[in-house]
Amino acid sequence: MEQEKNSIFPMDDALEMILMFDNVGMISYANTAAKQKLEYEDDLSGRCICDVFPNVFEAAADNFSTELCNWQKPRKVAAYRKNKTCFPVEARLTENGLVPGTYICMAIDILEKEYLGKEIEQVRNEAQQAMKVKSEFVANVTHELRTPVNGVKGNVQALLEEVSDSKTRKSLQLIERCCDDMNRIINNILDFSKLEAGKFVLELHRFHFRNMLDYVRNNHINKLTEKGLGFFVTVSPQIPEYVVGDELRIVQILNNLLSNAQKFTAVGKISVEAVRTARINDKIELFFMVKDTGIGIDAADRDKLFQSFSQVDASISRKYGGTGLGLNICKQLVELMGGKIEVESERNRGSTFSFSIWVGIPDGEEELPDQPGLEMPLFTERIKDASKEIPLEEIRKYGTSENLKILNNNLSKLILCVEMENWEKAEMFMETIRQMTEGAPRDVSRVILRLKMAIQKENYDKITTEYAELSRILQA
Ligand code: ADP
Repeated sequence: MEQEKNSIFPMDDALEMILMFDNVGMISYANTAAKQKLEYEDDLSGRCICDVFPNVFEAAADNFSTELCNWQKPRKVAAYRKNKTCFPVEARLTENGLVPGTYICMAIDILEKEYLGKEIEQVRNEAQQAMKVKSEFVANVTHELRTPVNGVKGNVQALLEEVSDSKTRKSLQLIERCCDDMNRIINNILDFSKLEAGKFVLELHRFHFRNMLDYVRNNHINKLTEKGLGFFVTVSPQIPEYVVGDELRIVQILNNLLSNAQKFTAVGKISVEAVRTARINDKIELFFMVKDTGIGIDAADRDKLFQSFSQVDASISRKYGGTGLGLNICKQLVELMGGKIEVESERNRGSTFSFSIWVGIPDGEEELPDQPGLEMPLFTERIKDASKEIPLEEIRKYGTSENLKILNNNLSKLILCVEMENWEKAEMFMETIRQMTEGAPRDVSRVILRLKMAIQKENYDKITTEYAELSRILQA
C-alpha cells in the first residue's frame, strides 16, 4: 500500500485532474487538482465515477471496460462538482497498467479556454460586422462622390468646346485634371475597402497580352517623353499571345508602378520587362519588373512601402502628392493572383519593383517552346533615350559634360513651357534641373533656388532674369 501511494504520489502535484477507479466505478484515488476543482475536499475516494461524469458513465455503470474501448481519444465532457454544478473538461481514459482492473481518468478544466474562445469569436464577429458597415459606408460615400465629380467633369468638357479664351481654357483644363485626380483617389479608396473587406473578386477573361502592354505603354509614353526619360518595354517570346486573367487589374498594377517610377525619376530611364517563369498544367507564372533610375528608397523605408496609407516621409507626399494606397492595393491584387510583389532599391540609385502572377493559357493557345538561348525581346521600345548608353553617374554628376548637355536640354524645355504658360510642366523640368545640380557650387544652387521660386510664383520677368543668369554660369 505504501509502495502504491509512493508510486501515485507525484500525480498529487499534477495540474490536470487525475481520478483512479475500479471496474465498478469506485474511485480509489483523486489528486489535489481533482479534489479542488470538484470541491470534494477529502471525501472523493470511495465515491462513484458516475457522480463526476454522470453523462458518460451512467449508461455503462457496470461495464467500464466497454466504455474504455470507446474512449481512445481525448473527449470534451462535463465534470460535475459536489454541489451538482458542472464545467467543461477535456478528458482521457486509460487502463491502469500498474493495478489491473483499475482505470485512470485525466481531465483538464477547459472552462476558461472555452470562454475565451467564445469571447474571441464574439470579438471577431463584431469586428467583421464593423468592417462590413465600414466598407458599405465607404462604398456609398465614394459612389456619392463620384457622381458630382463626373458631373463637374462633363460640364467642364462641354465648356471647353465652347470657350476659346486661353486663360479661361487653362482654368477649365485645370478643373478637368483635378476631377481626374479626384476620380483616381475615389477608385483607390473603393478598391482598398473592397480588398480589406475580402469582397474583391477578380474578373478573368481571355486577352491579348502584348496589346495589354501596348495600352500600358501608351498611357505613359507622353509624360515620359516630356520628361526626357528613356522608356523600354520588353516581353519574353515564351509568353503566349493570349492569356486568361484579370486584364484590368494587371493594367492597374503596372500603371501604378509606372506612375510612381515616372513621379520619382528625374533623369535616366524606365523599363518594363515581362517574362514567363513557370508552368503548371494550363497555368503559367508571369514575372514583371518595373525599373527606374530615380530617387530610390532607403532600406529602412522599404518595409513600410506596401502598408496602407504609407509614404516614405511626409515631405514626399507634400512634394509628389499621392495617398499612399497604391502599393498596398498592388500587393493585395498581386496576392489575389497567386503572386508576390517585392522591391529592390537604394537611395539615389533607382528602384526595381517586381511582381509575379499566375494566369491561364486559353484552350488551343499554344505556348511557345522554351528557347533558353533565345530570350530575345519580342518588341523593345526605345521611345526616347536621353541617357543613351551614358552611365547614370555621368548624368547625375554636376560638372560632367553629359550632365551639362542634359541640363541645358532641360533648361530649354523649361523656358519653352514658361513661354507657353504651362506651369505644371515647367515645375517638372525645374525639379529635374534641381536634382541634376545637387552638389553644385553655391552660386549655381542659389540661382536654381531663385528660379524655382519664380516659377512657383509664375513670375515671368524674374524667371527670364534667373534663367539668363543660370545659362551664363553654365556656359562659363
Ligand atoms: P502614392 O499614391 O502616395 O504614390 P504608393 O503606395 O504608390 O502611394 O507609394 C507609396 C510611397 O512609396 C511613395 O509615396 C514613395 O514614397 C514610395 N515610392 C513608390 N514608388 C517609388 C519609386 N519608384 N521610387 C521612389 N519611391 C517610391
